[in-house]
Amino acid sequence: MFFIGVFGIGQKRKVLKEVKFKCTGCMGEKAVLIQQSKSFDLFFIPVYHWDKVYLINCLSCGSLYKVKKEKITQIIENSKVEYDDIEDIIYEQVSCPKCGTRIDKSFKYCPKCGKKL
Ligand SMILES: [Zn+2]
Ligand SMILES: [Zn+2]
Repeated sequence: MFFIGVFGIGQKRKVLKEVKFKCTGCMGEKAVLIQQSKSFDLFFIPVYHWDKVYLINCLSCGSLYKVKKEKITQIIENSKVEYDDIEDIIYEQVSCPKCGTRIDKSFKYCPKCGKKL
């Protein structure tokens, strides 16, 4: 899976459920709600958790969005995420309007066809 191994040791990710979210990067609608927590593990037994963060991970392009904490209950109930629920974009992939190559949003030019983005 795409999102495994992106973050370092001591951070745990748990997929809470599948949600509907119109990804701004690829316009796909399938995503998962992830709970990420930093943890202190002792012989593989998590003994302490802190810093819980909720993320939306787009299943088609791998874009990652941070969700507002106060919206979590609502999201779990409705299995739906609105743009309003997003606090921050952590990582987003976009497609080149000319050749359709998936590229990182921070790129100024398409690495494949050279189109200015
Ligand atoms: Zn996407
Ligand atoms: Zn291109």
